[in-house]
Amino acid sequence: MPSDELISHIQTKAPIVNIVSAYLPLQDSRKALKGRCPFHPDSGASLMVSQDKNTFKCFGCGKEGGPIEFLMAIEGKSRSEIAGRLAVKLGLVHDLRAV
Ligand SMILES: [Zn+2]
Repeated sequence: MPSDELISHIQTKAPIVNIVSAYLPLQDSRKALKGRCPFHPDSGASLMVSQDKNTFKCFGCGKEGGPIEFLMAIEGKSRSEIAGRLAVKLGLVHDLRAV
């Protein structure tokens, strides 16, 4: 299992805006970017993505978190699977087996 330290590195370093915008278009809003939430039937743009905090939050269904939670929810994978992949991608570890 990835350590808490590794998880917190990933949560701050994996760029949430890039990760979310790979799945849905984001538009500029006043304080954050926003888009149509992929986790509930969203007719507006309830999903807010904060570049400063590197987090997302949906004001429709309440789903929120960092890059790891977004990818877990959208891909239906486990925390350790997502964390491992991001850790390798970010160069925090070089071998998935080391996570
Ligand atoms: Zn939602």
